[in-house]
Formats: sequence, C-alpha cells, structure tokens
Amino acid sequence: MRSDKRKDDEFRSVKIKLNVVKSALGSCYFEMGKTAVIAATYGPQDVKPKHLEDAEKGIIMCNYNMLPFSVEGDRKRPGYDRRSVEISKVVKESLEPAIFLEEYAKYLINIDMQILQADAGTRVVAINAAALALACAGISMRDIVSAVAVGRANGKILVDLTKEEEDAEDAIDTPIAIMPKFGEITLLQMDGIASVDDMKKIIKQGEAACQKIAELQRNALKNGIHSI
Ligand code: ADP
Repeated sequence: MRSDKRKDDEFRSVKIKLNVVKSALGSCYFEMGKTAVIAATYGPQDVKPKHLEDAEKGIIMCNYNMLPFSVEGDRKRPGYDRRSVEISKVVKESLEPAIFLEEYAKYLINIDMQILQADAGTRVVAINAAALALACAGISMRDIVSAVAVGRANGKILVDLTKEEEDAEDAIDTPIAIMPKFGEITLLQMDGIASVDDMKKIIKQGEAACQKIAELQRNALKNGIHSI
C-alpha cells in the first residue's frame, strides 16, 4: 500500500486553474498532489538578440525555476542552477513538437514556469501547465502535451512517484510526456537502473496515465478559460 493510499497506477489529485496571471497572454496553475506550478506564456514577440531569429520557424524559450520556499526543510538557494537549465531544455524539447512553429517564423514565444511546491515530478507538472498556458494564449498547436513520472519503488512499478517513493533504495524515476492524440512520446528520461522489461511496463503505464491527464487538460479548456 502506498503511504497516500493510492493504487499503483493512480496519479495524485489534480487541480487546474487557467489564466491566473493577468499580464500574460496565457497561463495556468497546475497542482498534482503536493507539487504545484504556475506557467505563463509571452509572445509571439520579436526575437532579441536579432541574430537568434529563424526565418523559417518560431523559437521557443523555456525558463523552469524552483522557488526558495518550494522544498521541504531548508530553503532552496534562489536562482537558476544546472538542474533548472537541464529541465528548461527538456521541457522545451517536449513542447516543441506540439507547436506549429512554422506559423511563427521570426518570432519568439517565452514560457516561464515557477515551481511553488515541490514533492517530486516538478518537470512533468511544469509541462502539463505549460501546454495549457500555450493553449490559453491561442498558440497554434497540433496537440496538447501531457506528462507524468512513472517509476519503480519498493519493487513495484508506480505511477506519479512522491519524493518519499523517489528516495527508495531501488527507485527508478522515468518522466514521460506524450502528444496524446498521436500517441507520440516527446520526453523520456530515466534516473536509476532498469531492465528492458521494467522499461516496457513503465512506458505502458506512463502512456495510459498521460491519456487520463490529457482528459483533465481538455476538460479544463472546454469548461472555459476562467481566472481566479
Ligand atoms: P522532478 O521534480 O522533475 O522529479 P528531480 O528528480 O530532479 O526532478 O527532483 C525530485 C524532487 O527532489 C523535486 O521535486 C524536489 O521535491 C526535490 N528537489 C530537487 N531539487 C531540490 C533542491 N535543490 N532542494 C531540495 N529539494 C530538491
């Protein structure tokens, strides 16, 4: 039994609020259990410096950051570090395939993600929030992007690991993002040592959970673009 009584294939409870940032064209608050993030998008806007401009397609810039008070125990040192640079890069690469970049030639779209509370799975929650923020901003997309972390802890394959589960001795942590309409994987990372059999199970469970998260994202968009 998991400490929060979830089934092995169950993700934590999700709360979504759209357009929570007044000054941004599109934004989203996304909460999954005790992990919470706000994502906001700016643009399309001119690329600066101009030499980064691409005449063929738009440029996406992602900034992922964990706030000092987002973690348990000691305050996190403010500002960007190696981890946040890596996560900004993988989040960008997971979202890009879903955006019709060719419609935004010479322009830049910025996506900022601030982690308010971190209890594992911050990168996947950031992806879920960023995809909704892009949709709220009316950015042309071929699909939403839905993400979850699946892994192994205490000998079991578990969906949406908590920090406690992630810290288990035999833990594997595998963040996965998909474009649910196409079933195409846009992010697959792995921390830990897994067999091919484990990986097959993890990917299968991840895809199924992402499809359910996509339902929640679509419902949030259908129920109207509301703000707090
Ligand atoms: P993710 O949050 O995507 O699972 P990691 O596996 O790198 O990414 O981090 C797992 C968890 O470890 C985070 O969600 C957070 O709870 C905790 N964590 C990460 N970095 C720090 C930090 N600098 N200080 C305290 N806790 C951290």
